[in-house]
Amino acid sequence: MTDRAPPRSTARPADLLLRSTRVVTPERTRPASVAVRDGRIARVLPYDAPVPAGVRCEDLGDDVLLPGLVDTHVHINDPGRAHWEGFWTATRAAAAGGVTALVDMPLNSLPPTTGTAALRVKREAARTRIHVDVGFWGGALPGNRDELRALHDAGVFGFKCFLSPSGVDEFPALDEEQLARSLAVVAGFGGLLIVHAEDPRELADAPARGGAAYADFLASRPRAAENGAVALLIAEARRLHARVHVLHLSSSDALGPLAAARRAGVRITAETCPHYLTLTAEEVPDGATEFKCCPPIREAANQDALWRALADGTVDCVVSDHSPSPAELKTADFATAWGGISSLQLGLPAIWTAARARGHTLDDLARWMAGAPARLAGLGRKGVIAAGRDADFAVLDPDATLTVDASALQHRHPVTAYAGRTLHGVVRSTWLRGQRIYADGEFTGPRGRLLSRS
Ligand SMILES: [Zn+2]
Repeated sequence: MTDRAPPRSTARPADLLLRSTRVVTPERTRPASVAVRDGRIARVLPYDAPVPAGVRCEDLGDDVLLPGLVDTHVHINDPGRAHWEGFWTATRAAAAGGVTALVDMPLNSLPPTTGTAALRVKREAARTRIHVDVGFWGGALPGNRDELRALHDAGVFGFKCFLSPSGVDEFPALDEEQLARSLAVVAGFGGLLIVHAEDPRELADAPARGGAAYADFLASRPRAAENGAVALLIAEARRLHARVHVLHLSSSDALGPLAAARRAGVRITAETCPHYLTLTAEEVPDGATEFKCCPPIREAANQDALWRALADGTVDCVVSDHSPSPAELKTADFATAWGGISSLQLGLPAIWTAARARGHTLDDLARWMAGAPARLAGLGRKGVIAAGRDADFAVLDPDATLTVDASALQHRHPVTAYAGRTLHGVVRSTWLRGQRIYADGEFTGPRGRLLSRS
């Protein structure tokens, strides 16, 4: 017998109940009430579960309760190029887009995140200015193999490298031998290497005319460059039994080898991005460098194959590769304009608009944009609506439409490839650890936390 009362938090079933006729759970979308306690999902209850006394109930009606999206490919550029994009603006765009956790890429900020001192600088820059949770990828450069283990221990989620020029001088690419050596180091401590996969020899051999014609730009970044790099990564992942992730896959020719490698047990995964799935080369106007990214947006037939690969699981996730720059760097010349498309706020409606037209469901969307990216990065508390996870949600009206007005978006510069498009799916509110951080255009103060690999 004991004279101690049970702890108060055990007696209290929830702080909050979120009720919707459409809750997207890992099993299926169904009517349910989600009980939240101390920022976590306590239980997923039947729709008509009684509301305990003293518990606030938010009835969302027919709006969809999605897990907060997880975007593992974001370039925030802060500090150093914060005039391109910064933590405050990027994470507001994330919150407005239903994204509750993101992982920042190691390049474009100064310093790049290629050592533990730089990681500390990044964390300090972010700490008080983030509206959603933020973690960091490290960078693998030709000269920093000795830093990788310390960065891993300091909590980065993995290491990014390039095989071709990155676009910024301070982040050089690895050659094949350096790739093999860095991958061996990363595999040695069970880490993950994430790779911008374009083969520099194929890029050097491609015609490079420059200028305003999109067809010329597309010819300068051929599928062969991606195909060759993916083949190399498959071979190295197999040889070293290492975990490798292909970033922003665009070439559908690489899908067959990727699928075969995965069937054979090679530890390789892949992502693609909203722009490859919703925009086509055929429709890019000449001089419209808001559509420039590397690898490039390809033809409609290529896009159809990417959708099939998402459906069959060859491609795991859809993440933004949000990479803004000031408008003046988006010159009309595709060869020299900054490459990067800003879609942190628009990925959800862009993908949902195309996905529903192709017969995909909200369950698919949640898997591609929340569950799979969380699994990729090892974010065990994020990505699905289930007991024990963080109470991170996006509340979506999937039938409402919005017409994209670049100047109304939250990221730093009003440049977007989606300007003027009418999209389905309006994010009504976004919740982070049980608190509503965004609703109908209004934000709370920054409540994001820094994330580390656990
Ligand atoms: Zn990127």
